[in-house]
Amino acid sequence: MAQITNSMPTAEMQALDAAHHMHPFTHGADLGKKGARIITRADGVWLTDSEGHRILDGMAGLWCVNVGYGRQELVDAATRQMSELPFYNTFFQTSHLPAIKLAERLAQLAPGDLNHVFFAGSGSEANDTNLRMVRTYWELKGQPSKKAVISRWNAYHGSSVGSGSLGGMKGMHAQGGMPIPDIHHIDQPNWWAEGGDMSPEEFGLARARLLEEKILELGPENVAAFIAEPVQGAGGVIIPPETYWPEISRILKEYGILLIADEVICGFGRTGNWFGSQTMGIEPDIMTIAKGLSSGYLPIGGSIVSSEIAQVIGDAEFNHGYTYSGHPVAAAVALENLRILDEDGIVDAVRDRTGPYLQKKFKGLTEHPLVGEATIVGMMGSIALTPDKDSRAAFEAESGTVGYICRERCFANDLVMRHVGDRMIISPPLVISEAEIDTLIERAWTSLDECH
Ligand code: PLP
Repeated sequence: MAQITNSMPTAEMQALDAAHHMHPFTHGADLGKKGARIITRADGVWLTDSEGHRILDGMAGLWCVNVGYGRQELVDAATRQMSELPFYNTFFQTSHLPAIKLAERLAQLAPGDLNHVFFAGSGSEANDTNLRMVRTYWELKGQPSKKAVISRWNAYHGSSVGSGSLGGMKGMHAQGGMPIPDIHHIDQPNWWAEGGDMSPEEFGLARARLLEEKILELGPENVAAFIAEPVQGAGGVIIPPETYWPEISRILKEYGILLIADEVICGFGRTGNWFGSQTMGIEPDIMTIAKGLSSGYLPIGGSIVSSEIAQVIGDAEFNHGYTYSGHPVAAAVALENLRILDEDGIVDAVRDRTGPYLQKKFKGLTEHPLVGEATIVGMMGSIALTPDKDSRAAFEAESGTVGYICRERCFANDLVMRHVGDRMIISPPLVISEAEIDTLIERAWTSLDECH
């Protein structure tokens, strides 16, 4: 077997990668032709590849490395916990201090009466938990017909069969038997692409009322929950018009339907508060968490649940759990990560200092001839690429082609941005400095110049 070290020539690493490694969400043949870019090290907001290039990570890995790369405190927390107790489960009446402390800290940070945590290994697993939990809750409350869950097209809630069904990605639904029954989707509040002649406010109301129509079509007695991200991330960073969430909240209250806020991206400072629900002024019954919970240093996710739901579920046995629910090393790292976010003032900086600086600079990209809108909250933003800003037209080429080219140009210019169709996205580590923000914007501008 070959010794794999960072000093191996890039071409050899790429050949091994192509020979044996199946990549998620990647066209294998395309990658085989080009070869993957091999990332070898990272610190702060910077990645280093096997050729020694320094790449500005405008996506914080996959929207997750909130405290930046190279935090020794997280390495130390993992090392300590590994030596003390590398694993024990939290099934069958045992517990351990890392899971206990992390659950307590999350209960302190979470809004309202979200006081109980069910741990998982990832966001997908946590959303599977949520699906089973809301249905079980209604069953235990004597309303077993409440099974349907409503979500939104273009939402991403994970890749397992349950969470992928909750998601609204048609390309995913086309493969492998999704969506499972009793999951329904409504359109997302994407004013730029779909608002037509309506003002954003009118459009926000119209899109929220699709939820009411769907509830009435299904019958409120059959609907368990609505799941949504406070700000849709992988769907293109769709920041809803101001009228949207208040109307959604009114509808859910009126018909007695639970709200699951998927905070996997929006949580842990991304929008300038601990949770996106606080930024958007919503009061969920359950929040899905992952990613920024450990800044991606180790896999961990979970559901933060209201006292009412925890009480009803806790009065019975919930036949559900993962070997790694509350994994002690991941929990210790998450706890330390929350301490860093708090004590280094990172959430405050996103709200009051570097966040507003990034927002101003990012919105300046609308001066570029290719950019229609630039929309950003906290440190998650997207630009819509268009051939005609006034009509908000889409490119005639197959949707996503121009976005793809721009993404490739960014990567060639040592900047990671992502594209969703013809929207380009940023979600940098929350520790990015003003000078690094300037570099990010300069590289984005140069890359845009090169793709039209
Ligand atoms: N929910 C949202 C909003 C996400 O963005 C993601 C991942 O990108 C998930 C859930 C799934 O999380 P994981 O990839 O940890 O399973």
